[in-house]
Amino acid sequence: MVSLDDDLIQPFHLNGREIRGRLVRLGPVADAILNRHDLPPAPAALLGEALALSAMIGSALDFDGIFTFQAEGDGPANMLVCDYRGRGDLRGYVRLRRQEGEAVGASPAASLLGRGSLALTIDREGDRQRYQGLVELLGDDLPSCAEHYFQQSEQLPTLFRAVSTRGPDGAWRVGGLMLQSLPKDPDEDKAAEDWNTAQVLARTVKPQELLDQSLTAPELLYRLFHEDGVWLHDVQPLKDRCTCSADRVVSVVRRFPEEEIRNLADESGKVTVTCQFCARAYDFSAGELLGETE
Ligand SMILES: [Zn+2]
Repeated sequence: MVSLDDDLIQPFHLNGREIRGRLVRLGPVADAILNRHDLPPAPAALLGEALALSAMIGSALDFDGIFTFQAEGDGPANMLVCDYRGRGDLRGYVRLRRQEGEAVGASPAASLLGRGSLALTIDREGDRQRYQGLVELLGDDLPSCAEHYFQQSEQLPTLFRAVSTRGPDGAWRVGGLMLQSLPKDPDEDKAAEDWNTAQVLARTVKPQELLDQSLTAPELLYRLFHEDGVWLHDVQPLKDRCTCSADRVVSVVRRFPEEEIRNLADESGKVTVTCQFCARAYDFSAGELLGETE
């Protein structure tokens, strides 16, 4: 079994029950991603929660491809996007309405997105088919919006917890828990009872426990579910990794109308395109983007 202290997903299932789960811990990965975007504290914390949810949901799909968690609303943070790719690559950004950017510092995370929708998308590698589920953003916080998604779109009872905050050293830490009832149990009464018991246990988790580095993932899971026993699966590492490249940027920008590309250029004909996810800047000449030979 891989042993890791931080930036990890710990998958598990409960002994004798058709219930699985994920515990996520993010330290340096969250700190790097959240500091990159120069965000006020509340939207940064919201992005941290979204990273935790994306890592738990994406890794539970157990597939090669991209899982995207995307929320859009009419609030001050009108777009929130996170990707989980293949074997643990995470990236994400939150977009603020410019004029409200300064006022959102003290907003509670729940009111940042406002009214809107939550879309979860699965893009399988080597498969042109995309699967997307879309629900209304309903819930007091982002984890409850994700619970609503699974109830509404997948009919899978799911519990989510996610916390994101700066530690005493000033670095961001993120923690999360996911618990999901699998539709495998033919005995519906037993499945419902199992789910109720497991939920009660999971709800006792304190935000501090999800963030506490001195409490390992197995220790926390045993603390929560020791009555039934919990089976731990292999830990998966999480990484701060974007998939952008100059080639990808060129292929996207080339789809714009010629006039728009010319408008993007500065006086010297240089076009700078910044990746929304990782904030990396790519420089091109307008001629390059228009496919002209120089
Ligand atoms: Zn990037």
